Amino acid sequence: MRAVVYDAYGGEPGVREIDPPECPADGIVVRVGATGVCRSDWHAWRGHDPVPLPMVPGHEFAGTVHEVGPQVRRWAIGDRVTAPFVLGCGRCEYCAVGDLHVCPDQVQPGFTYPGSWAELVAVPVADANVVRLPDSVDMLAGASLGCRFATSFRAVRTHGRVAADEVVAVHGCGGAGLSAVMIAKALGARVIAVDVSLEARQRAGELGADVLVDPLEHPDVPGHIQELTDGGAHVSVDAVGVPTVAAASVACLRRRGRHLQVGLLLGPEATAGIPMDLVVARELQVLGSHGMPARDYPEMLGLIASGELDPRRLVGSVVELDGAPSALRAMGEPPASTGITIVAMERSWIERPR
Ligand SMILES: [Zn+2]
Ligand SMILES: [Zn+2]
Repeated sequence: MRAVVYDAYGGEPGVREIDPPECPADGIVVRVGATGVCRSDWHAWRGHDPVPLPMVPGHEFAGTVHEVGPQVRRWAIGDRVTAPFVLGCGRCEYCAVGDLHVCPDQVQPGFTYPGSWAELVAVPVADANVVRLPDSVDMLAGASLGCRFATSFRAVRTHGRVAADEVVAVHGCGGAGLSAVMIAKALGARVIAVDVSLEARQRAGELGADVLVDPLEHPDVPGHIQELTDGGAHVSVDAVGVPTVAAASVACLRRRGRHLQVGLLLGPEATAGIPMDLVVARELQVLGSHGMPARDYPEMLGLIASGELDPRRLVGSVVELDGAPSALRAMGEPPASTGITIVAMERSWIERPR
């Protein structure tokens, strides 16, 4: 099968023929319809998050079931499916209560085994990890859900408990941040979107952000947000994963506010300097979001099917598999276009995104 492969950290990724994945006894093999290009693929390729080499990137995908292991009960060939980027073991105490996204024995396509920038990708423990894609959610939308959108959904909805008319600050308007803007608006919040890129701020505005903040114009972002909101945001999201942004997100909160860490903090940046004096004095909550387990997808998919959430609006560009290596390289550069890049496996699905 054809797949994108890199052999060394930072080495040239290329499309080549490799052996198709073996179907796990408890898993399925999915024929990939579309798959997302995420900054965590870039982190892995750069070696910030060590992975076995060579590696096939890709952890956000939608497709159809191509092969079914003998122990699988829920899935049949041809079913339209997606899966979270974290796949649980299905047996431990966390998986037993549905929290597969924090399973200690988790695996992740594109990080611990060959991922979805390929014609086929395996998904273990399919009865617990795989999600049915409603007919109304197409492959491009399905491929944009598994990492950034689901992580933001869990952050804003489950951890943030965002209520109507609350103020949500979103720091960083890449894929995760734009997802957070859309989800917070759907929950009735007022949204302050922060990004150094004019294009990213404009995109956030198109998705409903009420106030757009340029940190170059307002270097004291927390102070500016405190002023704009008469005391700070109720909820704030670091959708970038940079220590200064995480600290600014905590500092812009009003009393009893909730900080949501969505962006990955990796390597030397892993221990971000959070202003713990404010966490105590203002009784702030600092909450991490690590994807979303399959169990919680139906609510999100329901909101997508009803049109309240429209992840297709986050898609900035659609490329073929041959275009994936340059899309990976571009993740480390200032955005040429904003929004999520999706790799479509069928040329006919490469259409102008909305
Ligand atoms: Zn487990
Ligand atoms: Zn990701």
